[in-house]
Amino acid sequence: MARIRFLLLVLIIFSGVGGGAREFSRLTGQAIIDGEEKKITIYNLGGSFYLDIRQAAEIYKASISWRSIARKVIFSLNNQELVFYLDRRRVDFAHHRQPLDTYYLDGRLYLPVNFFTSEDFSHLSGWESTYNPETKILDVNRIVNVLAPRIYSQKGYSRIVVELAENLSYSKKSTPAYYQVDFLRGKCRQQAWEVRDGLIKEVSLKNRGRTARLTVYLSENVREVRESYENRQFILTLYSAEEMITAPSTFTIVTSTLAVAPSATPVKKTEPEKKKIRLVIDAGHGGDDPGAIGPNGSREKDINLNIALETARLLKEDGNFEVILTRDSDVFIPLAERTNLANEKKAELFISIHCNAAFKKSTRGFEIYFLSEKASDPEAAATEILENSVVELEKKKLVKKSKVQEILWALVVNEFINESSELCSFMTGEIPPRLQTENRGVRQAGFYVLRGAQMPAVLVECGYLSNPGEEAKLRQKYYQQQISDGIYNAILKYCWRKKLL
Ligand SMILES: [Zn+2]
Repeated sequence: MARIRFLLLVLIIFSGVGGGAREFSRLTGQAIIDGEEKKITIYNLGGSFYLDIRQAAEIYKASISWRSIARKVIFSLNNQELVFYLDRRRVDFAHHRQPLDTYYLDGRLYLPVNFFTSEDFSHLSGWESTYNPETKILDVNRIVNVLAPRIYSQKGYSRIVVELAENLSYSKKSTPAYYQVDFLRGKCRQQAWEVRDGLIKEVSLKNRGRTARLTVYLSENVREVRESYENRQFILTLYSAEEMITAPSTFTIVTSTLAVAPSATPVKKTEPEKKKIRLVIDAGHGGDDPGAIGPNGSREKDINLNIALETARLLKEDGNFEVILTRDSDVFIPLAERTNLANEKKAELFISIHCNAAFKKSTRGFEIYFLSEKASDPEAAATEILENSVVELEKKKLVKKSKVQEILWALVVNEFINESSELCSFMTGEIPPRLQTENRGVRQAGFYVLRGAQMPAVLVECGYLSNPGEEAKLRQKYYQQQISDGIYNAILKYCWRKKLL
């Protein structure tokens, strides 16, 4: 008994001393930097979180220089300098100083995470960060004012639309091989897109000093390039010789955050009497059924809806399509009702939009499915289970199909299987290159939402919400727009192939 009491006393003393000396506990966390994952160590001290300055420099692509005599560390990024001190708990930047809860212990300088997530640091660094203590994910995104170009390949002309978050002046250079635009004070996510649509070879966006440079590499078929800049939209239209007169002269991007030109000219329809192609865009899940949920809390149903609404907007603006949405808000709709609607309205295509999830966190990439009785592979089977799980919620008992039903079923599947598979290949040609993500290909599975569709029907799995990096990308507006652009362009190509347009 005395021995136990002694041990207890020792324990109490030691835990007291530990707390007094303010020991850091190490946590393994993750930084998601513009969608790229990086393992990091987060230090917890009494419920506050810290980063080692060396790690912070890696995350924010800063350089650090230790001045041991002056007892300070200079942290340089974005042409700015922040000064941290080893013995003084403060930070100096942009001609002002601010007290800061820093610690210098055993040769390491610890900086509070909430400094990096502050507005001050965002303005200074050009990086916007949020930290979730539950998931230990530090989500870091470059603040950009030049958004990723949106590329549309039409018959006889191609269009590149670059949205700017603010008005920027620009200079340009034009040669037969390329067209180059420098946005002054522009900042962008660097990327290159291989287009090869007969007019555009490649498009790239790069940061060069204090400008963001858009370069469009032209093919020999380009006869003329027209440029316009209005309402923070820079538009390049590349014409091949034949179609110069018929191409609509104005194209407007309407988004919730950017103002719309009151004088914007609507797209001219070349043949107003032509019958429109009717299609159904289905935003997966909704209401009580959130679908997959990402490690940072993103809900599949919200992402699906954004992509569906933007895809519908593009199709409507095109003028050749009549679009029916299964839902345009956060409501629950049973799976069977979605295809019933498409059948009733005699839609010519059914496109269901989803995001995937897997047990393995590293799984990422784009997939597209069409219906079959049996899943094409074990991963497709897992996706099938995930997407069909809502049937439970619908409180419907699954009745085993009768022989007759099976035969009918096979007929329906076979009738549209080739067309569905063709639409799938256009989707894989258009979407993964825009996202620069892994293309996991065309697969088959028995999705309830596609069953009974009396038309070609496909299910798009835009990416894996279970992957923290892909989740961070999927919740970004520019990424969702690129998916919508890909779906729209794939539908166009499919319709041209089928001579529907
Ligand atoms: Zn889903």
